[in-house]
Amino acid sequence: MRIAIYPGSFDPITNGHLDIINRASKLFDLLIVGVLINPDKKGVFNESERVELIKRSVKSIPNVEVESFSGLLINFMKNKNSKVIIKGLRALSDFEYEFQMALMNNKLDPSIETLFMMTSTQYSYLSSSSVKQVAAFGGCIKDLVPDEVIPDIIKKFKK
Ligand code: ADP
Repeated sequence: MRIAIYPGSFDPITNGHLDIINRASKLFDLLIVGVLINPDKKGVFNESERVELIKRSVKSIPNVEVESFSGLLINFMKNKNSKVIIKGLRALSDFEYEFQMALMNNKLDPSIETLFMMTSTQYSYLSSSSVKQVAAFGGCIKDLVPDEVIPDIIKKFKK
């Protein structure tokens, strides 16, 4: 079985993430969305909220699973029997950091490959942080995130 991992913070999931999940799920038997929990970087949404929002957004795609992990990605991948990391690329500015990460992961475990998928143009400007900025100031987040999660994001930013 060919299993790929799509890692990220997903704080929260956006339509840019969902687009990559949709497209990558067609290329593998199983796609595991790995929600990275970094104890030093407290997000707006906690671990279980992030996982739950993604699960709700992908429930119509049968071969996608969602799980959180901490520590090294390659250890999570070993546990899951996966050799492929999926990454999305938006702009040239993503490239340098992702290039470095891909080389480091390959150094740690040479059997691992990182596959990069280009963003769809309509999502090239979209990031979790820009969604949070818009939501924090009461802007409309429709079309930026899956419809199913809009109420949760609005609620989070309502005092
Ligand atoms: P963000 O930068 O939105 O906080 P994450 O750290 O959660 O994103 O990113 C997880 C993965 O999703 C990364 O590989 C990132 O490049 C990719 N990604 C994020 N937003 C988009 C988008 N709009 N289009 C394509 N890929 C994206």
